[in-house]
Order: sequence, then structure tokens, then C-alpha cells
Amino acid sequence: MSENHNEGKKFLDSVHQYFDHAAKYSRLDPGILAQIKACNSVYKVSFPVEIDGKIEVIEGIRVQHSHHKLPSKGGIRFSMQVDEDEVKALASLMTFKCAVVDVPFGGAKGGVKINPRTSSVKTLEKVTRRYASELIKKNLIGPGIDVPAPDYGTGSREMAWIADTYQAFKYGEISALGCVTGKPVGQGGIRGRAEATGLGIYFGLREALQDIELLEGRGLEGTTMEGKSIIVQGLGNVGYHAAYFCQQDGAIITGIAEREGGIYNAKGIDIQEAFKHRSETGSILNFKDCENIENSVELLERECDVLLPAALENQIHEGNAANIKAKIIAEGANGPVTREAEEILLKNRIVILPDLYLNAGGVTVSYFEWLKNLSNVRFGRMGKRAEEASYRKLVNAIETSSGKTMTATERALLIQGSDEINLVRSGLEDTMINAYHEIRDVMKKQNIPDLRTAAFLTAIEKIGVSYESLGIFP
Ligand code: GLU
Repeated sequence: MSENHNEGKKFLDSVHQYFDHAAKYSRLDPGILAQIKACNSVYKVSFPVEIDGKIEVIEGIRVQHSHHKLPSKGGIRFSMQVDEDEVKALASLMTFKCAVVDVPFGGAKGGVKINPRTSSVKTLEKVTRRYASELIKKNLIGPGIDVPAPDYGTGSREMAWIADTYQAFKYGEISALGCVTGKPVGQGGIRGRAEATGLGIYFGLREALQDIELLEGRGLEGTTMEGKSIIVQGLGNVGYHAAYFCQQDGAIITGIAEREGGIYNAKGIDIQEAFKHRSETGSILNFKDCENIENSVELLERECDVLLPAALENQIHEGNAANIKAKIIAEGANGPVTREAEEILLKNRIVILPDLYLNAGGVTVSYFEWLKNLSNVRFGRMGKRAEEASYRKLVNAIETSSGKTMTATERALLIQGSDEINLVRSGLEDTMINAYHEIRDVMKKQNIPDLRTAAFLTAIEKIGVSYESLGIFP
């Protein structure tokens, strides 16, 4: 895979530096720490695809960062920027992300070098199916092996193609639908997965806003979402839903930054209307009552309570970090802040809600989808008795895999829930709240000044325990 830019390397360096910094607080053996940090396997593939009568070579990659728990898990990215270091960084983050929210998976990520915006649906289908078949051939995908999901440039449509390709190769394999998550609801998906990352961001941010101790002296008033100004970068699945749920709870979206430009209105922008405007006109620019900002990265530097980068990595770097005026940076994207930038931001007393915690809602609900596929349960549409029995099964599955007993409230919510979406949302809410407090406890106990280091350390310790109990083979 050709490395045509430096961004991937910068991203991987940042992740490694974040890891090393957190590892200093760990009691684990240096050998175990080195194993946790390393990427376990990288599979690169090139394959021909016929596009408009011409044969083109497409490059794909799948990185499995960690096998301490199986399957490994993580999305597939379609973008011309995809390179090995970028995917390694993303796969590493998946390992730590899963550990932070107690989702019993290792970390992985995939990428295909293709521009989904300029490719036809037919081409995308061919490429997706061929890429999937390359992974199937090498036994690199499966409900117990490695389970992809959507990421930047992919969605439920691509996941349905992957599931169908997998089933074609593995005809009759029970629970085959668990080979990929983020599928359409009618194809073994789960209600609530599409908005899960955004909703998780909302829950995480809401939790942080109530944390008076953390926010003391940072110039933020009140402990609720009400009236907080938010600038969001990226109106894709993550950015849109995160902004939507925050707006529903009283936040004011004052700026939206996209590829083609940005818009700003101090009085607030209706996120649904803006989304509609972009879909209809093909651009976010020229939306009613808003100032147009040609160079959208300038928006990141505007006054606001919360800056929500929800696009790509390395958006806040040493070149613009000193100009950031937000009081909180809520990392919807993976790796939006470089290590150099973070030092500047922390010096300026800006709170950073780190990606490995804040955007973990996606993989959390992927876990619910996977459990549903494995048990072949159809949540929410059964007779009362069957419903209760299957929820009991689900409680058992969750308790066994997490090693924790669910609280009475958690169980009651699961057993009572007759509606899949409520079940998913309450599970996600509890997960985000619990993980937040776990990170804060580590931060306080170990006297760690920032949330990212504490989140990394929380993850490292959990993975370390797992490696220690597994032992070293042979
Ligand atoms: N691509 C998402 C992420 O970066 C979701 C991964 C998953 O659900 O497996 O977290």
C-alpha cells in the first residue's frame, strides 16, 4: 500500500505517544506493555476490479491490532487517504476503546483506497464484495474471528454486501450474520446502531457537563446541555447524530464545518434543516441566516463552549491548537487531536473528552448487534414468555462476557424492555455513564491530570490483566 502522505504516520505516532505516556502509570511488566502496544497482524491485498470497462487495481488492508479477546472488532474505511499507519492507529484505538467500555473484543480496522463519493454504487458493491472475499479466503473475518463495521465512507449498505458475501461462501454457517455489524435492520442489524456513536457522544458530554469538579475554573456555567454553544466539524453519521441529540437537550449548534466550507450563526442553526439543505443543494454553504466560511477549518478557532470534531484525524495540530477557544473538545472522530496539540490545549485548561471513550457508543451497540446475531434473537417482537426467556439469555450472555453482575435496574430494563430501541439506548446510556466514572476514578486515584491518559490507563490495565491470565503461548 503506497504511503502518499504523512498524516497516517503522524496519527500512529500520536497514538503511540499517548500509550507510552499512560503506560508510565501502569504496574504491568514492560514486556506485557510492549505486547499491548504492538499490532498483531497486518494483511494487505491488491485486487483487480473492472470499472467502466477498464481494469483498475484496488488496494485494501485489514489490521488486527489485538487478539487478547476474540473476535477482534473495528470498522472499514473507504477513502483515498487510507494508508497502513492510519489503519494501524485506528485498529489500536479500537482495542483500547473496547476495553474502556468493557466490550469483550480485540481491536481491528480495515481500509480500502477508493473514493466513495465519486464511485458508482455498482463499483462500490464490486469492490466491497471482492475485499470481503479476500478476507474470507484468508479466514480473516467471521463471527468468532474478526467482525467489521461501518467507518468513514461506509455504512449499512456496505455491511449488508459483506454479510451476503460471507453467507455465500459459508453457506449454512449458524450465526453467520454475526460476521459484520452495522447491518440494515432487516438484514440482522439492530435498531439504534446508526445513531449509536452520536448518541454515545451526547451521553458522554452530558456526563462531563455534570462533573463540577472537572470543570471548575474552566469558564463553563451550569451543569446541563441547556444553552451550551457547539461547533461541529463533519455532518456525517457521527457529527450529525451527536449534534442532533445535543440540540434536542437544549444545546445551540452555532457552527458546522464541512469539506466544502462552513456556516456560522451565533443564535443557532437547526441541525436537521442544515442537513436537509446540504442533501438538497450538495453544499452546507448558503444556509439561511448563516455566515458562510469558505475555509471551514477557521471555524474550529471560533468562540464556543464545545468543539466537536467528528470528521478525520489530525484536525487540531500544533499549527492551530493555540487558537482554539472552546472550553471542551469532544472527540467524535478518531484521533482529531495530535499529541503536540494536546499539550498546548491542556496548558490552556481545555478539557478533552478523548475518542477512545467518547465515540465508543458505536462499538458498544455493535456488541449488542453481535449478541443478537449469535443468539438468533429478535428483540422486541416476541410473545411475552419468549421475550422474557430471551432477555434472561441476554442477561446471562452479558454477565458471562463482562464478568460482572448486572445491577437490578439494568436487569429490569432488559427484562421489561419490549422495544429494541429502548433496550439499546438504555444499555448504551449505562455503558457511557459507567465508563466515564471508571475513568474519573482512575484519574483521581492515580493523580492523573487529563482524561485521555486516564482512559488509556484504564484500558491498558484491563487488557494487561487479560494477557496475564492468558499466559504466554507456548
Ligand atoms: N468504526 C466505528 C469506530 O471507530 C465502529 C466500530 C465497530 O462498531 O466495530 O468505533
